[in-house]
Amino acid sequence: MVYSYDDTNIFARILRGEIPNKTVLETEHALAFHDIGPQAPVHVLVIPKGPYVNFDHFAAEASAEEIADFTRAAGEVCRIMGVGPGEGGQGYRAISNAGAHGVQEVPHYHLHILGGRVLGGMLKRAD
Ligand code: 5GP
Repeated sequence: MVYSYDDTNIFARILRGEIPNKTVLETEHALAFHDIGPQAPVHVLVIPKGPYVNFDHFAAEASAEEIADFTRAAGEVCRIMGVGPGEGGQGYRAISNAGAHGVQEVPHYHLHILGGRVLGGMLKRAD
């Protein structure tokens, strides 16, 4: 499988420090920051520092160390933001959009962590 990463995307620019962000957590292989257009009281994006287009790219080509670090970082964000049920929070949704049908806007893999309110049903059928 061939993935093509465009390093002019906005999250690549955030990682290079060209655009500011409101950082929640930074680890060796991941960065978490507040979404610029929050869809819920808690809306944090977790991104790997490596050049991965989407979840399946990351799953296929990231190292075990990157995957572990990213996953732990995402879990830590839930704790920091107070939404993790294991820490007494009320819960959250973790979403990753990919490609055209997933309606992915930014072509750098990211996990949305949403919470702080009841988020409603997951999806509505379009047909
Ligand atoms: P996608 O549709 O690709 O899953 O989500 C992209 C997300 O990135 C959107 O929720 C959008 O609000 C967010 N976003 C786009 N540009 C910026 C930016 O410059 N800074 C931050 N913090 N978030 C951004």
